[in-house]
Amino acid sequence: MAKRSNPSSYANRPPPSHSPNLLLAALPPADYQRLLPTLEIVPLTLKTVLHRPGEPIDRVYFPDAGFCSILIVLKDGAMVEVATIGREGAAGVAAVLSAVATAATTMVQGETDACHTMPAPVFRREMERRDTFYEVMTRYTHALMGVVMQSTACNASHSVEQRLARWLLMAHDRMGGDEFPLTQEFVAMMLGAARPTVTVVAGTLQAAGLIKYHRGRVTIVNRTKLESASCECYRTATKLLSAVTSKSTRLA
Ligand SMILES: [Zn+2]
Repeated sequence: MAKRSNPSSYANRPPPSHSPNLLLAALPPADYQRLLPTLEIVPLTLKTVLHRPGEPIDRVYFPDAGFCSILIVLKDGAMVEVATIGREGAAGVAAVLSAVATAATTMVQGETDACHTMPAPVFRREMERRDTFYEVMTRYTHALMGVVMQSTACNASHSVEQRLARWLLMAHDRMGGDEFPLTQEFVAMMLGAARPTVTVVAGTLQAAGLIKYHRGRVTIVNRTKLESASCECYRTATKLLSAVTSKSTRLA
């Protein structure tokens, strides 16, 4: 079973003067400076659970790198991913609703040694100011809902090969390198697919020269072909998320 998050065990460090997290970076410098005393930098280690279903969200996480998965865990233990959150986003935005338990699990899937985190009461206080932070987070929450809806349609309508390509592209975007750790068992869970099916499909992508897979590590060999192998959902989700902080929509 995955580890419980324990932020108090982290060797916390002061946040940098400019955040690599795109939501925090979209804030006016004065707003980010005002938030700094409320932010901590923590590492996110693989499979750490940040939020559990049925429990209120205690902290909001703004990854500087790596990524988390929003998962629905079924009664038989099966897990299906409905969204991923990297440096373009934040995990725990539902904390705006005080004392309401979250419905999903948030688990770290791509490790990072730097993630900004803020206590939920501070997040609510900042949202109540109705200023730029509120507008950025509202815009992001709307985009994230769109990603989750797209994911629902994707899981129902697109092939395992298309969905595996989409997932690999998403991970590639967030991991900051062409090679990263990955187990086929894990990917099968994330996609809600049978492991033998994922093994066959991953073999097909490897034989076609799109990826290399060796000893639990995947290498993206031909990203252009991988994009062609993916369904429309990768581009749709990327467009939704990039619009949150793009220059054309960026807030003053
Ligand atoms: Zn799709």
